[in-house]
Amino acid sequence: MSHHYDVIIVGSGPGGASVAHRLAPTGKRILLLERGGYLPRSPANWDSQTVFVDGAYQAPETWFGADGRSFHPGLHYYVGGNSKVYGAALFRMRERDFGEIVHRDGISPAWPLEYEVFEPYYAEAEKLFHVHGKRGEDPTEPFSSGPFSYPPVSHEPAIQALSESLARDGLHPFHLPLGILLDEKDGKATPTSICIRCDAFDGFPCLLNGKADAQVMCVDPALKAHPNLTLLTGAFVSKLETDANGRAIEGVRVTTEGRERVFSADIIVVACGALSSALLLLRSANDKHPNGLANGSGQVGRNYMRHNQSILMALMRDSNDTVFQKTLAVSDYYFGADDWECPLGLIQMCATSHGAQIRGEALPGWLEWVPRKPFEEMARHSMDFWLSSEDLPRPENRIFYDRDRVVLDLREGNMEAHHRL
Ligand SMILES: Cc1cc2nc3c(=O)[nH]c(=O)nc-3n(C[C@H](O)[C@H](O)[C@H](O)COP(=O)(O)OP(=O)(O)OC[C@H]3O[C@@H](n4cnc5c(N)ncnc54)[C@H](O)[C@@H]3O)c2cc1C
Ligand code: SF4
Repeated sequence: MSHHYDVIIVGSGPGGASVAHRLAPTGKRILLLERGGYLPRSPANWDSQTVFVDGAYQAPETWFGADGRSFHPGLHYYVGGNSKVYGAALFRMRERDFGEIVHRDGISPAWPLEYEVFEPYYAEAEKLFHVHGKRGEDPTEPFSSGPFSYPPVSHEPAIQALSESLARDGLHPFHLPLGILLDEKDGKATPTSICIRCDAFDGFPCLLNGKADAQVMCVDPALKAHPNLTLLTGAFVSKLETDANGRAIEGVRVTTEGRERVFSADIIVVACGALSSALLLLRSANDKHPNGLANGSGQVGRNYMRHNQSILMALMRDSNDTVFQKTLAVSDYYFGADDWECPLGLIQMCATSHGAQIRGEALPGWLEWVPRKPFEEMARHSMDFWLSSEDLPRPENRIFYDRDRVVLDLREGNMEAHHRL
Protein backbone atom coordinates (compact mmCIF):
# COMPACT_ATOMS: atom_id res chain seq x y z
CA MET A 1 0.00 0.00 0.00
CA SER A 2 1.51 3.35 -1.05
CA HIS A 3 1.30 5.92 1.71
CA HIS A 4 0.07 8.81 -0.40
CA TYR A 5 -3.58 9.24 -1.41
CA ASP A 6 -5.67 11.83 -3.17
CA VAL A 7 -8.06 11.94 -0.23
CA ILE A 8 -7.93 10.59 3.31
CA ILE A 9 -11.18 10.47 5.27
CA VAL A 10 -10.94 9.97 9.02
CA GLY A 11 -14.08 8.31 10.41
CA SER A 12 -16.69 6.14 8.67
CA GLY A 13 -19.87 7.47 10.31
CA PRO A 14 -22.60 9.11 8.21
CA GLY A 15 -20.33 12.12 7.59
CA GLY A 16 -17.18 10.32 6.42
CA ALA A 17 -19.04 7.47 4.74
CA SER A 18 -21.22 9.83 2.66
CA VAL A 19 -18.09 11.67 1.49
CA ALA A 20 -16.43 8.34 0.59
CA HIS A 21 -19.56 7.18 -1.25
CA ARG A 22 -19.81 10.44 -3.19
CA LEU A 23 -16.08 10.67 -4.09
CA ALA A 24 -15.39 7.01 -4.91
CA PRO A 25 -16.88 7.19 -8.46
CA THR A 26 -14.36 9.94 -9.33
CA GLY A 27 -11.62 7.32 -9.44
CA LYS A 28 -9.47 9.26 -6.96
CA ARG A 29 -7.39 7.16 -4.60
CA ILE A 30 -9.22 7.39 -1.29
CA LEU A 31 -8.27 5.98 2.09
CA LEU A 32 -11.02 5.67 4.70
CA LEU A 33 -9.57 5.32 8.20
CA GLU A 34 -11.80 3.90 10.94
CA ARG A 35 -10.66 3.22 14.49
CA GLY A 36 -13.26 0.48 15.01
CA GLY A 37 -14.04 -2.70 13.11
CA TYR A 38 -17.29 -4.09 11.71
CA LEU A 39 -19.97 -4.45 14.35
CA PRO A 40 -20.26 -8.21 14.89
CA ARG A 41 -23.61 -9.64 13.77
CA SER A 42 -25.13 -12.01 16.28
CA PRO A 43 -28.46 -12.65 18.03
CA ALA A 44 -27.06 -10.49 20.87
CA ASN A 45 -27.63 -7.46 18.60
CA TRP A 46 -31.31 -7.67 19.55
CA ASP A 47 -30.87 -8.47 23.23
CA SER A 48 -31.86 -5.50 25.38
CA GLN A 49 -29.74 -6.68 28.33
CA THR A 50 -26.65 -6.82 26.08
CA VAL A 51 -27.37 -3.49 24.41
CA PHE A 52 -28.75 -1.28 27.17
CA VAL A 53 -27.62 -2.81 30.45
CA ASP A 54 -24.23 -4.29 29.55
CA GLY A 55 -23.54 -1.52 27.01
CA ALA A 56 -21.71 -4.15 24.97
CA TYR A 57 -21.43 -2.02 21.83
CA GLN A 58 -20.49 1.22 23.52
CA ALA A 59 -16.92 2.54 23.21
CA PRO A 60 -14.80 1.14 26.05
CA GLU A 61 -13.67 4.58 27.18
CA THR A 62 -13.77 6.54 30.38
CA TRP A 63 -14.22 10.29 30.22
CA PHE A 64 -14.71 12.81 33.02
CA GLY A 65 -17.15 15.60 33.79
CA ALA A 66 -15.95 18.99 35.02
CA ASP A 67 -16.74 17.79 38.56
CA GLY A 68 -14.20 14.97 38.15
CA ARG A 69 -16.85 12.24 37.97
CA SER A 70 -16.12 9.54 35.41
CA PHE A 71 -18.60 8.25 32.83
CA HIS A 72 -18.68 6.13 29.69
CA PRO A 73 -19.54 8.20 26.62
CA GLY A 74 -22.45 6.96 24.49
CA LEU A 75 -20.22 6.56 21.43
CA HIS A 76 -19.89 3.60 19.10
CA TYR A 77 -16.64 2.96 17.26
CA TYR A 78 -17.58 0.85 14.26
CA VAL A 79 -17.66 1.00 10.49
CA GLY A 80 -20.75 3.19 10.12
CA GLY A 81 -20.08 5.04 13.39
CA ASN A 82 -23.02 5.88 15.62
CA SER A 83 -25.47 5.16 12.83
CA LYS A 84 -25.02 1.44 13.61
CA VAL A 85 -27.23 2.07 16.64
CA TYR A 86 -29.12 5.21 15.66
CA GLY A 87 -32.89 5.55 15.51
CA ALA A 88 -32.77 6.52 11.80
CA ALA A 89 -35.36 9.28 12.21
CA LEU A 90 -34.01 11.45 9.40
CA PHE A 91 -35.48 14.93 9.53
CA ARG A 92 -34.62 18.02 7.55
CA MET A 93 -34.12 21.17 9.54
CA ARG A 94 -36.76 23.78 8.81
CA GLU A 95 -36.08 27.02 6.84
CA ARG A 96 -36.41 29.07 10.03
CA ASP A 97 -33.84 26.92 11.82
CA PHE A 98 -31.15 28.48 9.63
CA GLY A 99 -32.04 32.00 10.79
CA GLU A 100 -31.67 33.52 14.24
CA ILE A 101 -34.13 32.01 16.70
CA VAL A 102 -34.91 33.47 20.12
CA HIS A 103 -35.19 30.94 22.94
CA ARG A 104 -35.99 31.69 26.56
CA ASP A 105 -32.37 31.09 27.62
CA GLY A 106 -30.65 32.79 24.68
CA ILE A 107 -30.30 33.04 20.97
CA SER A 108 -29.66 30.33 18.46
CA PRO A 109 -27.58 32.34 15.99
CA ALA A 110 -28.23 32.38 12.26
CA TRP A 111 -26.23 30.08 10.02
CA PRO A 112 -24.06 31.70 7.36
CA LEU A 113 -26.00 29.66 4.76
CA GLU A 114 -29.72 29.33 4.19
CA TYR A 115 -31.88 26.25 3.83
CA GLU A 116 -32.10 26.66 0.04
CA VAL A 117 -28.37 25.87 -0.23
CA PHE A 118 -28.85 22.56 1.57
CA GLU A 119 -32.09 21.47 -0.10
CA PRO A 120 -30.51 19.54 -3.00
CA TYR A 121 -28.19 17.74 -0.56
CA TYR A 122 -31.07 16.83 1.74
CA ALA A 123 -32.85 15.41 -1.31
CA GLU A 124 -29.80 13.35 -2.27
CA ALA A 125 -29.17 12.17 1.29
CA GLU A 126 -32.80 11.11 1.72
CA LYS A 127 -32.51 8.99 -1.38
CA LEU A 128 -29.17 7.52 -0.33
CA PHE A 129 -30.46 6.63 3.15
CA HIS A 130 -33.81 5.24 1.87
CA VAL A 131 -35.88 7.69 3.87
CA HIS A 132 -39.53 6.63 4.01
CA GLY A 133 -42.06 9.41 4.55
CA LYS A 134 -44.87 11.51 3.16
CA ARG A 135 -44.64 15.16 2.21
CA GLY A 136 -47.43 17.55 3.16
CA GLU A 137 -48.35 15.99 6.51
CA ASP A 138 -45.83 17.70 8.78
CA PRO A 139 -47.12 21.25 9.42
CA THR A 140 -43.62 22.71 9.88
CA GLU A 141 -41.83 20.82 7.10
CA PRO A 142 -39.58 22.91 4.88
CA PHE A 143 -39.81 23.28 1.11
CA SER A 144 -38.64 20.19 -0.80
CA SER A 145 -37.89 19.71 -4.47
CA GLY A 146 -39.62 16.34 -4.71
CA PRO A 147 -41.48 13.60 -2.88
CA PHE A 148 -39.78 11.00 -0.68
CA SER A 149 -38.55 8.10 -2.78
CA TYR A 150 -40.07 5.58 -0.37
CA PRO A 151 -43.60 5.47 1.09
CA PRO A 152 -44.19 6.18 4.78
CA VAL A 153 -43.81 3.32 7.24
CA SER A 154 -47.38 2.35 8.15
CA HIS A 155 -48.86 2.73 11.62
CA GLU A 156 -49.97 -0.35 13.55
CA PRO A 157 -53.57 -0.13 14.88
CA ALA A 158 -52.75 1.45 18.27
CA ILE A 159 -50.60 4.14 16.66
CA GLN A 160 -53.22 4.77 13.97
CA ALA A 161 -55.77 5.25 16.76
CA LEU A 162 -53.40 7.62 18.56
CA SER A 163 -52.89 9.56 15.34
CA GLU A 164 -56.64 9.96 14.86
CA SER A 165 -57.13 10.96 18.47
CA LEU A 166 -54.38 13.60 18.29
CA ALA A 167 -55.92 14.94 15.08
CA ARG A 168 -59.28 15.22 16.82
CA ASP A 169 -57.52 17.35 19.43
CA GLY A 170 -56.42 19.72 16.67
CA LEU A 171 -52.83 18.50 16.27
CA HIS A 172 -51.20 17.42 13.02
CA PRO A 173 -49.50 14.06 13.61
CA PHE A 174 -47.48 12.76 10.66
CA HIS A 175 -45.48 9.74 9.58
CA LEU A 176 -41.98 9.90 11.00
CA PRO A 177 -39.35 10.00 8.22
CA LEU A 178 -37.31 6.83 8.70
CA GLY A 179 -34.17 5.51 7.00
CA ILE A 180 -34.97 1.83 6.74
CA LEU A 181 -34.73 -1.01 4.21
CA LEU A 182 -38.37 -1.96 4.58
CA ASP A 183 -40.79 -3.03 1.88
CA GLU A 184 -44.34 -3.37 3.15
CA LYS A 185 -47.62 -4.75 1.94
CA ASP A 186 -50.82 -4.36 3.98
CA GLY A 187 -48.82 -3.17 6.99
CA LYS A 188 -46.49 -6.18 6.97
CA ALA A 189 -42.92 -6.60 5.77
CA THR A 190 -42.90 -8.42 2.43
CA PRO A 191 -41.14 -11.82 2.29
CA THR A 192 -38.18 -10.22 0.50
CA SER A 193 -37.89 -7.11 2.69
CA ILE A 194 -34.56 -6.88 4.53
CA CYS A 195 -36.20 -5.25 7.57
CA ILE A 196 -38.83 -7.43 9.20
CA ARG A 197 -40.50 -4.68 11.32
CA CYS A 198 -39.31 -6.14 14.60
CA ASP A 199 -39.38 -4.49 18.03
CA ALA A 200 -35.65 -3.69 18.12
CA PHE A 201 -35.24 -0.43 16.29
CA ASP A 202 -33.96 2.49 18.41
CA GLY A 203 -30.56 1.93 19.95
CA PHE A 204 -30.15 -1.68 18.79
CA PRO A 205 -27.84 -2.62 15.93
CA CYS A 206 -29.81 -4.47 13.27
CA LEU A 207 -28.85 -8.12 12.94
CA LEU A 208 -30.29 -8.16 9.40
CA ASN A 209 -28.66 -4.91 8.27
CA GLY A 210 -32.17 -3.53 7.73
CA LYS A 211 -31.40 -0.14 9.18
CA ALA A 212 -30.16 2.41 6.64
CA ASP A 213 -26.88 3.07 8.39
CA ALA A 214 -23.65 4.44 6.96
CA GLN A 215 -21.96 1.05 6.66
CA VAL A 216 -24.85 -0.55 4.79
CA MET A 217 -25.80 2.42 2.57
CA CYS A 218 -22.38 3.97 1.87
CA VAL A 219 -19.26 2.05 2.86
CA ASP A 220 -20.15 -1.47 1.70
CA PRO A 221 -21.55 -0.52 -1.74
CA ALA A 222 -18.73 1.96 -2.43
CA LEU A 223 -16.06 -0.62 -1.53
CA LYS A 224 -17.71 -3.21 -3.75
CA ALA A 225 -17.98 -0.92 -6.78
CA HIS A 226 -14.77 1.10 -6.53
CA PRO A 227 -11.37 -0.53 -6.02
CA ASN A 228 -9.83 2.96 -5.71
CA LEU A 229 -11.47 3.19 -2.25
CA THR A 230 -9.58 1.48 0.58
CA LEU A 231 -10.97 0.98 4.07
CA LEU A 232 -8.54 0.46 6.94
CA THR A 233 -10.28 -0.66 10.14
CA GLY A 234 -8.72 -0.75 13.59
CA ALA A 235 -6.90 2.41 12.48
CA PHE A 236 -6.87 5.07 15.20
CA VAL A 237 -5.71 8.47 13.94
CA SER A 238 -3.68 9.81 16.82
CA LYS A 239 -2.45 13.02 15.24
CA LEU A 240 -2.43 15.24 12.18
CA GLU A 241 1.11 16.49 11.58
CA THR A 242 1.81 19.79 9.87
CA ASP A 243 4.79 20.85 7.78
CA ALA A 244 7.48 23.03 9.39
CA ASN A 245 5.53 26.22 8.58
CA GLY A 246 2.39 24.85 10.13
CA ARG A 247 0.44 25.67 6.96
CA ALA A 248 -0.41 22.21 5.62
CA ILE A 249 -1.02 18.70 6.92
CA GLU A 250 1.94 16.56 5.98
CA GLY A 251 1.11 13.33 7.76
CA VAL A 252 -1.81 11.46 9.25
CA ARG A 253 -0.39 9.41 12.11
CA VAL A 254 -2.24 6.15 12.64
CA THR A 255 -1.98 3.45 15.28
CA THR A 256 -2.97 0.14 13.74
CA GLU A 257 -2.31 -3.42 14.89
CA GLY A 258 -0.02 -2.10 17.61
CA ARG A 259 2.23 -0.11 15.30
CA GLU A 260 2.48 3.44 14.06
CA ARG A 261 2.05 4.35 10.39
CA VAL A 262 1.98 7.70 8.67
CA PHE A 263 -0.14 8.39 5.58
CA SER A 264 -0.45 11.54 3.52
CA ALA A 265 -2.98 12.97 1.09
CA ASP A 266 -3.77 16.05 -0.95
CA ILE A 267 -7.06 16.46 0.91
CA ILE A 268 -7.82 15.27 4.44
CA VAL A 269 -11.38 15.09 5.72
CA VAL A 270 -11.84 14.98 9.49
CA ALA A 271 -15.17 13.23 10.11
CA CYS A 272 -14.74 11.62 13.52
CA GLY A 273 -18.03 12.96 14.91
CA ALA A 274 -18.58 16.19 16.84
CA LEU A 275 -16.59 15.21 19.93
CA SER A 276 -13.80 13.06 18.51
CA SER A 277 -13.07 15.51 15.65
CA ALA A 278 -12.44 18.25 18.21
CA LEU A 279 -10.26 15.88 20.23
CA LEU A 280 -8.18 15.00 17.17
CA LEU A 281 -7.56 18.67 16.37
CA LEU A 282 -6.68 19.41 20.02
CA ARG A 283 -4.32 16.39 20.21
CA SER A 284 -2.57 17.62 17.07
CA ALA A 285 -1.12 20.69 18.83
CA ASN A 286 2.47 21.56 17.88
CA ASP A 287 4.87 24.51 18.18
CA LYS A 288 3.09 26.44 15.45
CA HIS A 289 -0.36 25.59 16.83
CA PRO A 290 0.03 25.30 20.61
CA ASN A 291 -3.75 25.20 21.21
CA GLY A 292 -4.44 22.58 18.57
CA LEU A 293 -5.06 22.72 14.84
CA ALA A 294 -7.60 25.13 13.36
CA ASN A 295 -7.92 26.65 16.81
CA GLY A 296 -6.61 30.20 16.46
CA SER A 297 -10.04 31.27 17.71
CA GLY A 298 -9.92 29.00 20.76
CA GLN A 299 -13.35 27.68 19.74
CA VAL A 300 -12.42 24.08 18.91
CA GLY A 301 -14.34 21.82 21.29
CA ARG A 302 -16.48 24.69 22.58
CA ASN A 303 -20.16 25.46 22.01
CA TYR A 304 -20.92 21.77 22.27
CA MET A 305 -24.64 21.26 21.72
CA ARG A 306 -26.89 18.31 21.89
CA HIS A 307 -30.63 18.13 22.17
CA ASN A 308 -32.40 18.13 25.51
CA GLN A 309 -34.05 14.73 25.36
CA SER A 310 -36.50 12.75 27.43
CA ILE A 311 -38.43 9.56 27.05
CA LEU A 312 -42.02 9.85 28.22
CA MET A 313 -43.75 6.57 29.01
CA ALA A 314 -47.53 6.60 29.08
CA LEU A 315 -48.59 3.62 31.18
CA MET A 316 -51.97 2.29 30.15
CA ARG A 317 -54.47 -0.06 31.70
CA ASP A 318 -54.59 -2.06 28.45
CA SER A 319 -51.47 -3.65 27.06
CA ASN A 320 -49.88 -2.14 23.98
CA ASP A 321 -49.37 -4.85 21.38
CA THR A 322 -47.56 -2.62 18.89
CA VAL A 323 -44.38 -4.24 17.60
CA PHE A 324 -42.89 -1.45 15.47
CA GLN A 325 -43.99 1.66 17.31
CA LYS A 326 -41.69 4.31 15.90
CA THR A 327 -43.88 5.61 13.08
CA LEU A 328 -45.45 8.88 14.26
CA ALA A 329 -44.32 12.39 15.15
CA VAL A 330 -45.87 15.72 16.15
CA SER A 331 -44.24 19.05 15.33
CA ASP A 332 -47.08 21.42 16.31
CA TYR A 333 -45.02 22.78 19.22
CA TYR A 334 -41.72 22.94 17.36
CA PHE A 335 -41.69 26.75 17.17
CA GLY A 336 -43.90 27.48 20.19
CA ALA A 337 -47.34 27.05 21.69
CA ASP A 338 -50.33 29.23 22.53
CA ASP A 339 -48.87 29.89 25.98
CA TRP A 340 -45.18 29.98 25.02
CA GLU A 341 -43.74 32.07 22.24
CA CYS A 342 -40.33 30.31 22.02
CA PRO A 343 -39.69 26.91 20.43
CA LEU A 344 -40.58 23.85 22.51
CA GLY A 345 -39.43 20.98 20.31
CA LEU A 346 -40.49 17.80 18.59
CA ILE A 347 -42.40 14.77 19.82
CA GLN A 348 -41.87 11.41 18.16
CA MET A 349 -42.64 7.85 19.08
CA CYS A 350 -39.74 5.70 20.11
CA ALA A 351 -39.38 2.01 19.58
CA THR A 352 -41.31 -0.30 21.88
CA SER A 353 -39.64 -0.29 25.27
CA HIS A 354 -38.20 -3.43 26.82
CA GLY A 355 -38.12 -4.32 30.51
CA ALA A 356 -34.34 -4.58 30.67
CA GLN A 357 -34.05 -1.24 28.90
CA ILE A 358 -36.30 0.51 31.43
CA ARG A 359 -34.38 -1.13 34.23
CA GLY A 360 -30.94 -0.36 32.84
CA GLU A 361 -31.42 2.98 31.22
CA ALA A 362 -34.47 4.90 32.12
CA LEU A 363 -35.03 4.64 35.81
CA PRO A 364 -31.74 4.02 37.66
CA GLY A 365 -32.92 6.40 40.42
CA TRP A 366 -35.86 4.12 41.22
CA LEU A 367 -33.67 1.09 41.63
CA GLU A 368 -32.08 2.56 44.74
CA TRP A 369 -35.33 2.44 46.65
CA VAL A 370 -37.45 -0.15 44.85
CA PRO A 371 -35.12 -2.69 43.25
CA ARG A 372 -37.87 -5.06 42.11
CA LYS A 373 -40.14 -2.99 39.90
CA PRO A 374 -42.27 -4.92 37.40
CA PHE A 375 -40.33 -3.61 34.43
CA GLU A 376 -41.58 -6.18 31.94
CA GLU A 377 -45.17 -5.35 32.84
CA MET A 378 -44.46 -1.65 32.51
CA ALA A 379 -42.98 -2.24 29.08
CA ARG A 380 -46.02 -4.24 27.99
CA HIS A 381 -48.42 -1.48 29.06
CA SER A 382 -46.49 1.54 27.90
CA MET A 383 -46.65 3.79 24.90
CA ASP A 384 -43.34 5.56 24.53
CA PHE A 385 -42.55 9.05 23.29
CA TRP A 386 -39.24 10.70 22.57
CA LEU A 387 -39.16 14.44 23.32
CA SER A 388 -36.39 16.62 21.83
CA SER A 389 -35.86 20.30 22.48
CA GLU A 390 -33.09 22.57 21.32
CA ASP A 391 -29.91 23.17 23.24
CA LEU A 392 -28.06 26.47 22.81
CA PRO A 393 -24.41 27.11 22.00
CA ARG A 394 -22.36 28.19 25.01
CA PRO A 395 -18.58 28.55 24.90
CA GLU A 396 -18.24 27.03 28.37
CA ASN A 397 -19.87 23.78 27.23
CA ARG A 398 -16.86 22.08 25.79
CA ILE A 399 -14.68 19.04 25.39
CA PHE A 400 -10.97 19.26 26.13
CA TYR A 401 -7.95 17.34 27.38
CA ASP A 402 -6.74 17.65 30.95
CA ARG A 403 -3.37 15.96 30.44
CA ASP A 404 -4.44 12.53 29.12
CA ARG A 405 -7.97 12.75 30.44
CA VAL A 406 -10.88 13.71 28.24
CA VAL A 407 -13.15 16.18 30.03
CA LEU A 408 -16.66 16.99 28.82
CA ASP A 409 -17.87 20.09 30.63
CA LEU A 410 -21.62 20.34 30.13
CA ARG A 411 -24.23 22.53 31.73
CA GLU A 412 -27.90 22.08 31.03
CA GLY A 413 -29.69 24.96 29.35
CA ASN A 414 -33.07 25.87 27.92
CA MET A 415 -34.76 23.28 30.11
CA GLU A 416 -38.01 25.20 30.63
CA ALA A 417 -38.91 24.68 26.98
CA HIS A 418 -38.23 20.98 27.41
CA HIS A 419 -40.32 20.67 30.56
CA ARG A 420 -43.18 22.53 28.91
CA LEU A 421 -42.99 20.20 25.91
C1 LIG B 1 -28.49 5.77 20.18
C2 LIG B 1 -28.43 6.84 19.14
C3 LIG B 1 -29.58 7.17 18.43
C4 LIG B 1 -29.55 8.17 17.46
N1 LIG B 1 -30.68 8.41 16.72
C5 LIG B 1 -30.65 9.32 15.70
C6 LIG B 1 -31.80 9.51 14.88
O1 LIG B 1 -32.83 8.87 15.04
N2 LIG B 1 -31.72 10.43 13.89
C7 LIG B 1 -30.55 11.14 13.65
O2 LIG B 1 -30.53 11.95 12.72
N3 LIG B 1 -29.45 10.96 14.42
C8 LIG B 1 -29.49 10.07 15.43
N4 LIG B 1 -28.36 9.87 16.20
C9 LIG B 1 -27.18 10.69 15.94
C10 LIG B 1 -26.39 10.20 14.75
O3 LIG B 1 -26.08 8.84 14.91
C11 LIG B 1 -25.12 11.05 14.61
O4 LIG B 1 -25.51 12.39 14.43
C12 LIG B 1 -24.27 10.61 13.44
O5 LIG B 1 -23.88 9.26 13.58
C13 LIG B 1 -23.03 11.51 13.36
O6 LIG B 1 -22.28 11.12 12.23
P1 LIG B 1 -20.74 11.45 12.12
O7 LIG B 1 -20.25 10.82 10.88
O8 LIG B 1 -20.55 12.92 12.29
O9 LIG B 1 -20.04 10.80 13.40
P2 LIG B 1 -20.07 9.33 14.03
O10 LIG B 1 -21.28 8.58 13.65
O11 LIG B 1 -19.77 9.52 15.47
O12 LIG B 1 -18.84 8.62 13.31
C14 LIG B 1 -17.52 8.97 13.58
C15 LIG B 1 -16.62 7.80 13.24
O13 LIG B 1 -15.27 8.19 13.43
C16 LIG B 1 -14.55 7.15 14.08
N5 LIG B 1 -13.44 7.79 14.77
C17 LIG B 1 -13.50 8.64 15.83
N6 LIG B 1 -12.27 9.05 16.17
C18 LIG B 1 -11.41 8.45 15.32
C19 LIG B 1 -9.99 8.49 15.17
N7 LIG B 1 -9.22 9.24 15.98
N8 LIG B 1 -9.43 7.73 14.20
C20 LIG B 1 -10.19 6.96 13.37
N9 LIG B 1 -11.53 6.91 13.47
C21 LIG B 1 -12.14 7.65 14.42
C22 LIG B 1 -15.57 6.52 15.00
O14 LIG B 1 -15.22 5.20 15.35
C23 LIG B 1 -16.84 6.59 14.15
O15 LIG B 1 -17.00 5.44 13.36
C24 LIG B 1 -28.35 8.88 17.19
C25 LIG B 1 -27.19 8.54 17.91
C26 LIG B 1 -27.21 7.55 18.86
C27 LIG B 1 -25.95 7.20 19.60
S1 SF4 C 1 -37.07 -3.14 12.80
FE1 SF4 C 1 -36.05 -3.70 10.88
S2 SF4 C 1 -34.20 -2.43 10.84
FE2 SF4 C 1 -34.94 -2.44 12.94
S3 SF4 C 1 -33.83 -4.07 13.96
FE3 SF4 C 1 -35.80 -4.95 13.24
S4 SF4 C 1 -35.31 -5.80 11.21
FE4 SF4 C 1 -33.64 -4.40 11.72
